[in-house]
Amino acid sequence: MDRSRIRNFSIIAHIDHGKSTLADRLLETTGALTDREKTNQFLDKLDLERERGITIKAQAVRLKYRADDGKDYILNLIDTPGHVDFSYEVSRSLAACEGGLLVVDASQGVEAQTLANVYLAIDQNLEVFPVLNKIDLPGAEPARIKEEIEEIIGLDASDAVEASAKEGIGIHEILEAIVAKVPAPAGDADAPLKALIFDSWYDSYQGVIMLVRIFDGTLKKGEKIHLMASGRSYEVLKIGAFTPHPVEMPEMAAGEVGFIIAGIKVLQDAKVGDTITHLNRCADKPLAGFQEVKPMVYSGLYPIDSGDYDALRDAMEKLRLNDASFSFEPENSLALGFGFRCGFLGLLHMEIIQERLEREFNMELITTAPTVRYRVITTKGEELVVDSANKLPDVQYIDRILEPFILASVHVPNDYVGGVLALCEEKRGIQREIKYLTSNRVMVIYELPLNEIVLDFYDRLKTVSRGYASLDYEFLDYRPSDLVRLNIMVNGEVVDALSLIVHRDKSQLRGRELVSKMKEFIPRQQYEVAVQAAIGNKVVARANVKALRKDVTAKCYGGDITRKRKLLEKQKEGKKRMKQVGNVELPQEAFLAILKVK
Ligand code: GDP
Ligand code: MG
Repeated sequence: MDRSRIRNFSIIAHIDHGKSTLADRLLETTGALTDREKTNQFLDKLDLERERGITIKAQAVRLKYRADDGKDYILNLIDTPGHVDFSYEVSRSLAACEGGLLVVDASQGVEAQTLANVYLAIDQNLEVFPVLNKIDLPGAEPARIKEEIEEIIGLDASDAVEASAKEGIGIHEILEAIVAKVPAPAGDADAPLKALIFDSWYDSYQGVIMLVRIFDGTLKKGEKIHLMASGRSYEVLKIGAFTPHPVEMPEMAAGEVGFIIAGIKVLQDAKVGDTITHLNRCADKPLAGFQEVKPMVYSGLYPIDSGDYDALRDAMEKLRLNDASFSFEPENSLALGFGFRCGFLGLLHMEIIQERLEREFNMELITTAPTVRYRVITTKGEELVVDSANKLPDVQYIDRILEPFILASVHVPNDYVGGVLALCEEKRGIQREIKYLTSNRVMVIYELPLNEIVLDFYDRLKTVSRGYASLDYEFLDYRPSDLVRLNIMVNGEVVDALSLIVHRDKSQLRGRELVSKMKEFIPRQQYEVAVQAAIGNKVVARANVKALRKDVTAKCYGGDITRKRKLLEKQKEGKKRMKQVGNVELPQEAFLAILKVK
């Protein structure tokens, strides 16, 4: 194939600015979709994604386009995930492209996610050009938004296409701009093979499917390949491209984008970012940028009905097949029984997995509070990685605890800056910078402990900004912090499912909150129940659930023994759904209610 007629590009946009709608229009205009498929957003595969309006899996679609110059071009549209949790996948998808189409909602303007992805694209030397979408909206202000793009991002927006993906306006102009502005790929089709895996997933019939961009060399069906990071070798069974329907091809050469199927059984062997080369003519070094993606957020997942344990494990195994960044291992809790400790890329990833387990597998779940990974240096000088409060050693064995920090960029209209600053301070943030992007838009940059973000930062941010603030973050480093384990005790017994790792300064407040919630949910018993929050032996908050005044059996005047027995039996039934914590019986609902309170 003539490389000068190939254009590899992706669409960069803040969530809801119209990336998927535009992608569908491009497919439709170039004749890639049938009428039935035009229904809605073909590129968003999963129903869940469609509902949430986010794209989780990157995809590549090959479009044929006859341009106004009369020549035929191959346009490879590489779709990127739209959320900060998946930023490594985004960076690899961008690495597969020469150009980026920046879609900005003409009624909303530039947002934090737009900026983060634009900078990623510019860092990778992509040719980025803006398109203003939603010009059909009465609130659209293309002239003002163009200025904003020039001012904030520094891109020339003077000849930006004004489009409406919904109404089909400006689509032809966008296709022409792609041909004119995106550089054709470079590369040497005769050099040793170097192909970048920018997405991979598990298909139950074909095994792992890899989406690749060939940078150098030529790959043919039947050849032996070697994956440089995983160190494994395979034979190529199928090569092809999605148009969006899969179409097989005999070979693929430098500059091209497509899929490879090579009988790979587990996703972990074909990771995003790995370089594929020939087994017998190996590239001397892999493409830059491979990273092992590690979970950032952990939580316990328990079946509400303990009989569902095996089904839950099966369901999680199925999900893990298709998600190399989701991890789990068995864990048990006195309060919640048998369950799993799970690792996620971020909070959204966590919510997606939970929702899929509940919806696709009909699981009823209870989730413990999310936590991050701490590094604990013991007094013996050993380093432990701790992803759950219950794994934290006793205080006397701890020399210091390090916690992960992130760099957060909050993009917010002027009016709400005060609220955002107060929130960041409350969350132990360290201010880096406040940038006035325009007279009305501010970028607030803070260093923040990830642990504070995973609790309720995002929801609070939306509240203090009436929904206008947007957040983007990246991992910074690990720092020593004064962290402690906060235990909740019921009549002196620790309720493990409620233990938390918190900053000492916050421990009393969180302790009080938890204790008062517990008090609300624990029914009165025959005797007084003390609920305490403690750090080690030191109680920081407490509440009492007063005893019931009367013994239920007192009503029976000590005479009618059968009646008394019946009453006791009734009580026993009620006890089945109770959890024994020390000498106190707690209804399972109490835990559920507390853990579900956000
Ligand atoms: P994405 O999150 O960037 O993929 O955005 P979507 O393509 O899912 O679009 C988000 C919402 O904006 C959907 O409700 C679309 O119907 C709507 N939308 C997309 N493009 C346009 C447009 O040009 N005009 C109007 N009025 N709405 C649009
Ligand atoms: Mg989308």
